[in-house]
Amino acid sequence: MKLAKKKVVVCGAGGFIGGHLVGSLLADGADVVRAIDIKPIEDWYQVQPAVQNLVLDLKDPENCLIAADGVDVVFQLAADMGGMGFIENNKALCMLSVLTNTHMLVAAQKKGVERFFYASSACVYNGDKQKNPKVVPLKEEDAYPAMPEDGYGWEKLFSERMCRHFEEDFGLQCRVARYHNVYGPFGTWSGGREKAPAAICRKVIEAKISGKHEIEIWGDGKQTRSFMYIDDCTYGTQAILESEIHEPINLGSSELVTINQLVDIVEEIGGIKLKRIYNLNAPKGVNGRNSDNTRIQKYLGWEPSTPLKKGLTRTYEWIESEMLAAV
Ligand code: NAD
Repeated sequence: MKLAKKKVVVCGAGGFIGGHLVGSLLADGADVVRAIDIKPIEDWYQVQPAVQNLVLDLKDPENCLIAADGVDVVFQLAADMGGMGFIENNKALCMLSVLTNTHMLVAAQKKGVERFFYASSACVYNGDKQKNPKVVPLKEEDAYPAMPEDGYGWEKLFSERMCRHFEEDFGLQCRVARYHNVYGPFGTWSGGREKAPAAICRKVIEAKISGKHEIEIWGDGKQTRSFMYIDDCTYGTQAILESEIHEPINLGSSELVTINQLVDIVEEIGGIKLKRIYNLNAPKGVNGRNSDNTRIQKYLGWEPSTPLKKGLTRTYEWIESEMLAAV
């Protein structure tokens, strides 16, 4: 299937990835008829005037029917989520996204939607495989036996499973990507839902502005992660939707860094060195996680490859402009 000219709805379009996805779909010739989010429009990171932008709570089944009406493709990205600080302290809220996913799947099926994309997460992976910072990259089969991140990860795994059975039992074509830590401009960088790359950019900029040359790091800084730049995420999302990949697939960078190395890169971008204060009581997530990209290479002959330094420079510059505008 090709997305060009297909009628599309993006759910969660007021958020970070959804906002970028609407833009990239339009640029690639898709007919984005609708963009939906629960937030008031003035809080959306990006708003495309060419699209019908609706404020709807997609936990409500009636609103899901409005969302899926007359479209060929649903991109379901709406979720109550955030970085480790949010998901470790809001497990029930994260699990309530099951209402959105369930009702959107039912609505898509009722309305005869051709394809349904679901944004899953690396948080579905078995925690036992993520205890060592010297990681073996996670393969898709490592999600089972199931022992995902409590709350958020369990909901994602359950919703992945629902997509599978809607396809098997009802014939609704579903595509599922497991995103690994996405970052970039026009995303959350303060308020408690931000993830590590944006939080570290903000802290480095704050230190420069205040002259207090210190940075608090959650954990011992030795935990490892990979981070995917937003342009790779939107490209991969569209490619997976168009593909014949019927099982959940990793969509993430395989450039592994420690959190300390992430701070090194951001300090270099900011042209500053800070005293590091390690908060060992803060939420820090698993010890190590990386994306095994064998499967995406096999299907698409492609994997996310934007170098961290390049993507972080763009992210840093955007957050800095936001912070300076707010002063
Ligand atoms: P985000 O929080 O910026 O965007 C999600 C959007 O969904 C928000 O704007 C929110 O208001 C909206 N939303 C929440 N509940 C809703 C509801 N009931 N009805 C309508 N809209 C609702 O997050 P994001 O980073 O853009 O993530 C998008 C998707 O990708 C989410 O499903 C998330 O779980 C998944 N994901 C993201 C990452 C990442 O690193 N950003 C990693 C793995 C998975």
